[in-house]
Amino acid sequence: MSVTRVPLSCEFFPTATPEGAEKLAAVRRDLAVFQFEYFSVTYGAGGSTRDRTMNLVARMCAENGPPVMPHLTCVASTEAEIRTLLDDYRALGVNRLMALRGDMPSGAFENAGFTTATQLVSYVRQLWGEDARICVAAYPEVHPRARTPAEDLHAFREKVMAGATDAVTQYFYNADAYLHFRDDAQALGVEIALVPGIMPISNFVQLSRFSDACGAEIPRWLRKRLEALQDDIPALCDFGADIVAQMCERLIAEGVPALHFYSMNRADLIREICKRLGWC
Ligand code: FAD
Repeated sequence: MSVTRVPLSCEFFPTATPEGAEKLAAVRRDLAVFQFEYFSVTYGAGGSTRDRTMNLVARMCAENGPPVMPHLTCVASTEAEIRTLLDDYRALGVNRLMALRGDMPSGAFENAGFTTATQLVSYVRQLWGEDARICVAAYPEVHPRARTPAEDLHAFREKVMAGATDAVTQYFYNADAYLHFRDDAQALGVEIALVPGIMPISNFVQLSRFSDACGAEIPRWLRKRLEALQDDIPALCDFGADIVAQMCERLIAEGVPALHFYSMNRADLIREICKRLGWC
């Protein structure tokens, strides 16, 4: 297959140990060949990885690789905590942020601070000015706690109106869900880039668990096929790369502006998908 190349970006999560950090640095070197537009770094729910996220972002900024986009969740944090982080990121030269509400960690208390991503977007826009890239999350298969798809879509539009410049979607294995969401958002006047989040497939049990928690659907036929392959990891990864590459091909044919890979801190899974698309 040879498919038109679109801009690529990639997400990492901060590691817990120095050995993990070195392995991840090797992954970034492996991935350099793909010339990613930016790398993003996740932020643990309720700030549970605050220092690790900051350390990884600082290290990546010092590497002079692709621009770095930290994720930041705002529930369970005070305005002062958010402000300190944003100031520290600015001092590192960071100019883009994934602005999220996040989920309340169990046992944490709501404080008087931010309650939606929209509020965080407005705050960052005010603090960082007009040049900052502010990315938000979108849910083609509907956020798990949304009451209706229409309410979800309007909440997405609000984030854009507050100043978001880009959006990355929750992952999906059903391109139609993305395409319908994109058309509906455009019909509401949303014009920013809606970049599909692409999740490689490498572990059936883990993927099922994630998907149940975040509201991403694994279609029945695919779930059955993956379940049957779950004990043969090479075959599962091979089949998974075929399926994901086919979906990317269709999304690109439908005009998506870019692709964002959830790397799970691995280079091999992305490489296999890109290989099938004819990009390496
Ligand atoms: P919001 O956009 O504020 O709201 C989520 C949903 O709540 C909306 O979609 C809507 O259904 C409803 N809602 C919001 N406002 C309103 C309103 N005014 N009226 C009615 N309904 C409303 N989590 C982490 O902890 N760390 C990460 O690094 C992280 N990265 C992510 C990256 C991506 C690309 C995605 C898609 C998700 C990520 N998440 C992460 C998960 C995210 O934190 C959760 O999905 C969280 O539940 C919602 O965050 P949000 O920013 O989408 O919230």
